[in-house]
Amino acid sequence: MTKKPTFIKHLAKKRALIQAIVGISLYLIINYFNISLWWVLGFGSAIGIIWGKVFCRWMCPLGIMMELLMKISPNDALKGMYQYHKIGCPIAWISGLLNKVSFYKIQFNADTCKNCGICDSACYMPTLDKQKFSLYKPNMVNPAENYSCSKCLQCVAECPNGSLTYKLSLPTNSKKHMLTN
Ligand code: SF4
Ligand code: SF4
Repeated sequence: MTKKPTFIKHLAKKRALIQAIVGISLYLIINYFNISLWWVLGFGSAIGIIWGKVFCRWMCPLGIMMELLMKISPNDALKGMYQYHKIGCPIAWISGLLNKVSFYKIQFNADTCKNCGICDSACYMPTLDKQKFSLYKPNMVNPAENYSCSKCLQCVAECPNGSLTYKLSLPTNSKKHMLTN
């Protein structure tokens, strides 16, 4: 039986729209108030302490353009370009490194997982390297904790059993259901 969608699932399904609204608003605010990019860098990195690398795929004006390019790509080549874009951005460097220690994390519940593999198909990391990354298979690299995870939450949105959740994960309660790397 599939579980009722949570608020996070609803949010994840609207991510592209949210990114467009927030990204364009941010772009206009930065230009209107002539805000230094150092402040943007500080903001994008600081929120990484709470939510991990959320800036790239929920707020970044450049990220919107990169995603549009990925969507019109007939193959995986432009997904590689998206990776390249992240390599070139200091917000991505800093917040990506914070994925391992951020307060909010993607957590996995092995008790409810049906091993259907839908989450891996939804995440661009396993689709680029099936032998290395998996959100549910043991002894593989966990994309959700990887530097490259940009918290698109597509894996959470697509899991039919609610086995993946994105929630506050303080050190005292974080280890029980975390995936192993
Ligand atoms: S949030 Fe999930 S689907 Fe998105 S990049 Fe991270 S692990 Fe992959
Ligand atoms: S989509 Fe959910 S149930 Fe399916 S393998 Fe992934 S975590 Fe398990």
